[in-house]
Parts: sequence; C-alpha cells; structure tokens
Amino acid sequence: MKYIVLLFLSLIMLFSCESKEKKTEKPKVVVNKEPIIKDYGFIFNDFKVIKDTIKSGDNLSLILGKYTLPDSLKTFDAVEKVRDSFNPRKIKIGKPYLLFFNKEKPNELKALVYINNKIEYSVLDFRDSVNVSNKKKPTSLKRRTIAAEIEGSLSETLSKAGVSPGFASKLAKVYEYSIDFFKIQKGDKFSVTINERFIEDSIYVGIENVESTYFEHKGKKIYAFPYKIKSDQKVADYYDENGNGLKSMFLKAPLDYFRISSRFSGRRFHPVQKRWKAHNGTDYAAAHGTPIKATASGVVERAGYTSGNGNYVKIKHNSTYSTQYLHMSKILVRNGERVSQGQIIGKVGSTGLATGPHVCYRFWKNGVQVDPFRLQLPNAEPMNEKDKAKYLTYIEPLKKELDSVMKNKFRE
Ligand SMILES: [Zn+2]
Repeated sequence: MKYIVLLFLSLIMLFSCESKEKKTEKPKVVVNKEPIIKDYGFIFNDFKVIKDTIKSGDNLSLILGKYTLPDSLKTFDAVEKVRDSFNPRKIKIGKPYLLFFNKEKPNELKALVYINNKIEYSVLDFRDSVNVSNKKKPTSLKRRTIAAEIEGSLSETLSKAGVSPGFASKLAKVYEYSIDFFKIQKGDKFSVTINERFIEDSIYVGIENVESTYFEHKGKKIYAFPYKIKSDQKVADYYDENGNGLKSMFLKAPLDYFRISSRFSGRRFHPVQKRWKAHNGTDYAAAHGTPIKATASGVVERAGYTSGNGNYVKIKHNSTYSTQYLHMSKILVRNGERVSQGQIIGKVGSTGLATGPHVCYRFWKNGVQVDPFRLQLPNAEPMNEKDKAKYLTYIEPLKKELDSVMKNKFRE
C-alpha cells in the first residue's frame, strides 16, 4: 500500500514537472522491493540471519549458550534432544553454519543450520521444541560434449571451455601411456563427453563421470572410453575405438618415487665386487622400506634368497615376459601366488650384494635379459571376442557424438 501511494505521488510530481520544463530528463521511478531469499528450507527475510564458521574449541553447547532459545528452552536440554539425530561431535573446525534469529528479539535463536558440504546439511530447529533433520539439497546431472583446441596448458584450455581445470589431471591419467602431457602443443585438439552434477540445477558441484574422450596429439588420434568388462569391477579401464586397452601391460617402474642409480649396460664397474661386468638390470634407489610394486600381473615364480640377489621375487607374466626384483628388505608374496599389476610384493632393502637400499629390476623377454627402456612394450591384455563385440556396440553412439562435435567445432 505504501508503495502504491509513493508511486502515485511521484507520478503527480512527474506530470507537474513536465508541464513546466519540458526538456528536463524524466526522473526514474524505482520501487525497491527486497528480494525473497530461500534456502535450506527457510525464508531468510523472516529472520535475522548470521553466517559463521566453527572455530577451534567451539562446540554445540558453547554456540547455543551465547543466545536464548524460544519457550525458555535450556541449552543443556536442547543439546540432549539434538543428540539422537545430530551427533554434536560431528562439528568440524572450518565448517560454516547459519544462525536464524527472531527479527523482533535479536538474541533469540530460532534455528541453526550446520553445513556439512555443498549438498548435505543439518537443521536444528528450536521453534517448536527441538527438531533435527539431516537433509540433502536436490541435485541433478547435466550431460555435455565439448571440443577444444589446446591453448596454453590443458587446464587453462579446460577452464576456458567451462570445465573444472582439475579435470586435466584425470585426462592426463587416461592418456598417461600414450601422450606425454608435457609435450602437448597448440594445434592439439580434444573432445570429451561428461556428466556434471549441479545443486538445484544451478550450483556446480563437479564432474560426476566421463563417458568418452578423444585426443589428437601431433596428428595422432586416440579415443578412450571407460568400460567395465566384469560387472563387479570397481574401476573402469579405458579402451580405444578398437577395444584395445590404453594401459600398458607394464608399469614404467616398480617404485613410485625413485632415482635411477644404474642403468642396464653391457659393462659397468661393480660397486661391491670392484670389477667390470655386465649390469643386466636397472637400479632404482629409494629409502629403505619403500613398497615395491609388481610392474605387471602374473604368477610368482620364485620368492627367495641368494647371497648375490638377497631377498628377491621373480614373476612370470606370460610365456614371453618375466621380471625380477632384488635386494628386498622384506618379501610380501609367496611362490605360486597370483599377483596383479601394481600389487606390493616387497620392500626396498640392501640384502645381498648391494651398497645401499635399492631395487635391481630385471626384465626377461623370451628367456633373455633385456633393457625394458629399449623395448616397445605391449598394451594390457586384449578383450576376448565376445566382450569386444559388446563393447563396440556400446561405444558406437558415443564415438559418433565425439566425431560430430569435433566436426562442428573445427569445420574446415
Ligand atoms: Zn642392479
């Protein structure tokens, strides 16, 4: 009503002015109306709302104790009643919370909303006794395919395309065996189909999953589709458009962090024996106790000790390849045991002929010791024909989609 009267008065003034000075600018009539803010099931306009964060030493009693609660509710009783559905210990330093106060009595706390993360929150409502509800904001998935050309780094390019730059490391992981991401360059292109999660259709949470990717590096074109061959498989593996695994059969090294202290060579001065002889392995120096991983899946052919090798493990991967790991401080597998790629089979040590803690990694191809760095190593086990047929049917529409988005974006 107030607004209408104001509007009416302004209009009269406007007209009266206009009749006298015709050339003056028309004053704008602005009716300010407070926007309605709704969130966490509350209309903010009905309260005095304060946002705070949990600080070191804070607890629920301490926070509630600063204010009065409706209907002479005592802090102690409120905390006790809350306990069944909201563990006060759940409160973590740095987490935000909202306090909803009575607009008329600003020290009277009507409700507290503890924000656990972007999606989950708890409402402690004191308006009618004590009610607790643990809630989730409604979220939805949006699917899209983007295509882009590399400009600057991969994360910069993703960021320009409106994709979370953190996705760069995921993409680099998918292609870790086929593309050196330190060498990507202008002119390289890619496209991806992703599902992204949003809260209430507007607030970005992050990438939920990847359906397909395509990368063009120095003219080399590589598709990658995540796929689970076995239904109980936890993590999907990536395959190309022909069903070949993108992972290499072998890890690049048996350790995560290391320094190569001696390479495979026909002739080197042996540090312990003090004479020139061939070194049929690669030495990876690392701290005593560092976990050693099987570089490929296979069966433990020998787990034992000799005076030269110290504690060692030899794994047969198939009829062509075997690997051996020497000087372990501890062996963690047994003869005949089946091991998977990346499984920890022992710990770094200096048993046998060794001057310091390291793994001597030895590699056999058809019974001959070779330097794995000089080999073109095979990809992971291929799919069987039945799985492959299923896979190819599954990826057909996904591939078409990537191709058409690429074609539209980079039409010549
Ligand atoms: Zn060695």
